[in-house]
Amino acid sequence: MADAKKIAGVIGWPVSHSLSPRLHGYWLKHYNIEGEYKAVTVLPDELDLFIKSLPDHGWQGCNITLPHKEAVLPLLDSMDEVAKAIGAVNTIVVENGLLRGTNTDAFGFSENIRPHITGKNKAVMLGAGGAAKAICYALEGLGFKEIIAVNRTKEKSDALAAQFVKVKVGEWDKRAELLAGADLLVNTTSLGMTGKEALDIDLALLPKSALVTDIVYTPLMTPLLEAAKARGNPVVDGLGMLLYQAVPGFEAWFGVKPEVTPELREHVLA
Ligand code: NAP
Repeated sequence: MADAKKIAGVIGWPVSHSLSPRLHGYWLKHYNIEGEYKAVTVLPDELDLFIKSLPDHGWQGCNITLPHKEAVLPLLDSMDEVAKAIGAVNTIVVENGLLRGTNTDAFGFSENIRPHITGKNKAVMLGAGGAAKAICYALEGLGFKEIIAVNRTKEKSDALAAQFVKVKVGEWDKRAELLAGADLLVNTTSLGMTGKEALDIDLALLPKSALVTDIVYTPLMTPLLEAAKARGNPVVDGLGMLLYQAVPGFEAWFGVKPEVTPELREHVLA
């Protein structure tokens, strides 16, 4: 008997904007895998039933997007250390009928910037929202000695500093001054996204060698990246983070470790 078609997908609310079906669909075709990656709208009051019935419906697992990344935690049988540290799950793998949760955002961020890092002494991270925990975890893992978290609402950056050993808090109003001597500047706020105001920051004190990256990827070249590139800093856009974070899930569900290639990037952007 032929193997049953493998099924995975992304669940969220809303989910129609997600690029994940395009991304995983490309890999399924490229690696000639008999599988399907779906996008399913799951409302908050449907989450419990949907997640618990994943094994019965023959799913290998799924990606979790907003607003369910924290709400799924109590529904899982186990979580790995990354998911526990970040306190959110974006990938579930069904193993022998049990649900294991992980978080691949930190991996995605690290893989995206790793080849471009120019120094690891000081990183300045703007923002302290949902994505920032994964970025702190990634920056510590990459070996940055000092990570300055700078957020408009200081309580949130204080919470990051309480959790991550290398993280210190900077004042939002002093963000331009904090750039002196930095090796990396990363924007994790939603500022600069299409439809939102641009991030207002003077880059004058940022060393020209510092890498600048933005996890916002619509537009690909955010005003921050444009400004950094114009003054000669190396820049990395946020799309690669999205592409790389999908690798571990695809491998676990479909049995092939997929590659992030320029062709994949073009396909997702098309
Ligand atoms: P979030 O939880 O809503 O956090 C938003 C952050 O932006 C907070 O730090 C918030 O500061 C700050 N912010 C918003 N408006 C601001 C303003 N007017 N002035 C100053 N700060 C402001 O969002 P998130 O989930 O962390 O996501 C942030 C961005 O990353 C989104 O654009 C998302 O699409 C993108 N993202 C990309 C990837 C990827 O794979 N590339 C992955 C995850 C997220 P306060 O705390 O003061 O409100």
